[in-house]
Amino acid sequence: MRYISTRGQAPALNFEDVLLAGLATDGGLYVPENLPRFTQEEIASWAGLPYHELAFRVMRPFVTGSIPDADFKKILEETYGVFSHNAIAPLRQLNGNEWVLELFHGPTLAFKDFALQLLGRLLDYVLEKRGERVVIIGATSGDTGSAAIEGCKHCENVDIFILHPHKRVSEVQRRQMTSILGDNIHNIAIEGNFDDCQEMVKNSFADQSFLKGTRLVAVNSINWARIMAQIVYYFHASLQLGGPARSVSFSVPTGNFGDIFAGYLARNMGLPINQLIVATNRNDILHRFMSGNQYVKETLHATLSPSMDIMVSSNFERLLFDMHGRNGAAIAGLMDNFKSGGGFSVEQERWTETRKLFDSLAVDDAQTCETIAEVYAQTGELLDPHTAIGVKAARECRRSLDIPMVILGTAHPVKFPEAVEKAGVGKALELPAHLTDLFEREERCTVLANDLKAVQAFVSQHGNRGKPL
Ligand SMILES: *Cc1c(COP(=O)(O)O)cnc(C)c1O
Repeated sequence: MRYISTRGQAPALNFEDVLLAGLATDGGLYVPENLPRFTQEEIASWAGLPYHELAFRVMRPFVTGSIPDADFKKILEETYGVFSHNAIAPLRQLNGNEWVLELFHGPTLAFKDFALQLLGRLLDYVLEKRGERVVIIGATSGDTGSAAIEGCKHCENVDIFILHPHKRVSEVQRRQMTSILGDNIHNIAIEGNFDDCQEMVKNSFADQSFLKGTRLVAVNSINWARIMAQIVYYFHASLQLGGPARSVSFSVPTGNFGDIFAGYLARNMGLPINQLIVATNRNDILHRFMSGNQYVKETLHATLSPSMDIMVSSNFERLLFDMHGRNGAAIAGLMDNFKSGGGFSVEQERWTETRKLFDSLAVDDAQTCETIAEVYAQTGELLDPHTAIGVKAARECRRSLDIPMVILGTAHPVKFPEAVEKAGVGKALELPAHLTDLFEREERCTVLANDLKAVQAFVSQHGNRGKPL
């Protein structure tokens, strides 16, 4: 499989190189040159497979030429072997024909484990083969950091640096990162906000001289491997609900358009999906596009669903690329406009075509809490705030009651106690068995000033299993 850039000017790469790349050299994102397409018979024949075997069938075309089948199978078996629920991604019924796909049974209790557990293992496999080492630098408002650290903690050939805003992540989220003590794990608390952290990561990609030749790898969802891993659970959910003979709809809490883009790809690969609902919080750039064809930046607001507090949605570019007939020059033009301060609209026909599949809703904090309380009263299920946004959007935007509606359950409520408390649900939150001693564990973390040079000096001092690069 070959991968091309959404801006049309970077060289095509194979899977292995895409895994190790950040943005393409032309500033675009990598996408498969040709999407694999499965027949209905083929998809139907996968019913009942264990999750890792389904994952093998769905993802195999994306890695051919880079990873032999037997090795890929083994990696997938290990990856999904660390999940704490036998079904890996169980479906729980909320209401008539309404289901939550629970994606929070991985080590860090959010859906990001599905991709980052795999990414860590793939990196180690590829780097071992090449005899290379890499450095990862990532910014997190909470969930990505812990999932990336858990995914990479056993990697022989990776040093990982995760920047989080000092005192601005929840205690559970912080401890999930800082209590992992390997000599290749480096937590940095920045005296600044999440945007400051993200800016430092971007600048480090732009000028890598401080790394003395060591390659820098991205772990946010611009990395294709993350999107790829998320396609699988759409197939998994559909197969349990009568697919592919029957069509299914999905409501997806999203900020960066990563998770929902995976659903869009599943549909283009042959899975019958009736409707994809973009569920955002008050940071609603995606909703404003879907509802009014306006893609315009606005001020970032802190919400009770912090993992979706995103001003600009990086993976949206991948959808735009398809929307424009895969014309890289057109995307480069739109993105230049966007960067120089303007927003943009797309041509009416393109937008109308997109809206045949996508609907959207923006849900504020008050509605989020109401939904948590309402679902708890109706069913006894306690939702995390992100999932609650998905449920609200599903209920508002649903086109047909005959078609099963699946809401992606993106996190365990214990990660977001503030929202659960505000919802007034009188249920004690309990950490799952593998985390019951979280509050007693030793923590390791370095606090640094909001200063790029200080961070880069720290990385070059510690980037080789704690020793200088
Ligand atoms: C990361 C995250 C999201 C948003 O994911 P996207 O990649 O923006 O689609 C939603 N919910 C939770 C709990 C997350 O951690």
